[in-house]
Amino acid sequence: MGFTANTAFVVLAGCAGALLSALLLGASFLLFRRRHKRSRRALWEQAYVDPVTGGPTRLRFERDAEALASAAAPGSYAVVDINLYHFRFMNNLFGRAEGDRILRHIYTTCSARLQPGELICHIAADDFRFLLHFSGQGSMVSRVQEMAEAANEFNNELTDHYYLWFKAGVSVVDGTADTFAAYLDYAKIACKENGPGRPACRCTCTFYEPRQREQALREQTIYNNMAAALEQGEFQVYLQPKVNCFTGRIVGAEALTRWVDPEKGLVMPAEFIPVLEHSGFITKLDLYVFGQVCATLRGWLDAGLEPVPISINFSRASLWQPHVMEQYDRLRRKYAVPGKYLEIELTETFLADGEGAFVALVDEIHALGMRCAIDDFGSGYSALNLLRRVKVDTLKLDRSFFPRTAPERERKRALTLVRHIVALGRDLGTHIVAEGVEERSQVEFLQGLGLHTIQGFYYYRPLPLDRFEAAAFQKGQAIFS
Ligand code: C2E
Ligand code: CA
Ligand code: CA
Repeated sequence: MGFTANTAFVVLAGCAGALLSALLLGASFLLFRRRHKRSRRALWEQAYVDPVTGGPTRLRFERDAEALASAAAPGSYAVVDINLYHFRFMNNLFGRAEGDRILRHIYTTCSARLQPGELICHIAADDFRFLLHFSGQGSMVSRVQEMAEAANEFNNELTDHYYLWFKAGVSVVDGTADTFAAYLDYAKIACKENGPGRPACRCTCTFYEPRQREQALREQTIYNNMAAALEQGEFQVYLQPKVNCFTGRIVGAEALTRWVDPEKGLVMPAEFIPVLEHSGFITKLDLYVFGQVCATLRGWLDAGLEPVPISINFSRASLWQPHVMEQYDRLRRKYAVPGKYLEIELTETFLADGEGAFVALVDEIHALGMRCAIDDFGSGYSALNLLRRVKVDTLKLDRSFFPRTAPERERKRALTLVRHIVALGRDLGTHIVAEGVEERSQVEFLQGLGLHTIQGFYYYRPLPLDRFEAAAFQKGQAIFS
């Protein structure tokens, strides 16, 4: 058999085919490698590059921070968590894109102030975390303040100022915790200690202490259970009578909440209200209490009783809820309760959010036909000047004016203040309620001043609804229990 042209063609075609397949295989391999590399890179970026700031993610920070801190001497590093006060408000005001721009601005200004061996990351929303060298509390406070000042420098060129308020929590990596992750938790706990309101200055710095952890655990339990508790009706509204001290008759009430926990029993507000305030959940509780109070008043009206007005505590966190008063008014209308039976108690601490917001809220309450009281009057910020701009219906004299254990001289001075505040109230046409009155001598003193309304243990403690009704509506009305 001879080697024909046909066979040569077949062999050549075979070779070309093999070459082509090899080329195709090679090309797809390269393509696959490129794609694989790209998707690996995408995965890496997702895990290690924060999409908002372009800086490291929390994961990368934690890995690098642990490596740095464990190689250093105990006490030479600190984890610092920084949270911005009311950043959500900025987001609402300027939009999300602008909000992200502000976060990037904070990231860049703060990273520019890091020293070698220090780290920063944007954790989420308005939370940043740092690993900083630690050489004492004073210098740490100064550094965080410097960062806050630098982040706020843009305001120098603006006529309307939009300050960024920093709340920092510091945990020193001192070698006492079992894991590095614990220091991260401690910094978060310390940061939360700063409270929900606006800090007193543009930057507050709280250092972690072990007692904060125990408190945080207790708070966590409350936090975990509060929503279910509200749904299951475990929050009960008690009413503390306000009494006319000349007639002994009940002329009003304040709604005060107790948590009736199926396991723990009666939990007092001092334990759960601060947690609810911290988390913002208080706004839900306050609205719920308002609804319960409206239902109670409707019940009294339907039973043909003449209701006594009930005051309800309004928390500062609610001030920032959009259309909050509309929600209250909707409930009031649902139960068809005349506004004159409802009084909203605000505290002087609201002033920290600005006088304008306070005045607007009082105006709104009045426009809806309800009354407005300043609670704990005289206990904190002085609201005296505020009384010039806004007409509240009631001033509730703070309990601290009636101290039981203070030295005689201090008690006397407190009563002098009471005398002048009562006179001031009279001149301004504002009703005054004295709170926390426990002794007969105090009642007599207040009677001597011509003050009528007292809310205090001398007359009644806060009562469950049935006991309040028995005291307030029984024929001839009990003078007091
Ligand atoms: P507050 O609004 O100043 O309420 C008055 C508190 O003083 C009540 O404490 C009341 O039981 C207590 N009190 C009244 N008279 C006397 C007295 O003669 N002696 C003493 N030692 N205490 C007296 P309570 O019920 O433990 O509530 C504490 C605080 O918790 C309230 O202070 C209020 O700020 C807050 N709170 C209670 N319920 C609610 C709620 O539903 N919403 C909100 N936002 N806060 C609430
Ligand atoms: Ca109150
Ligand atoms: Ca009070």
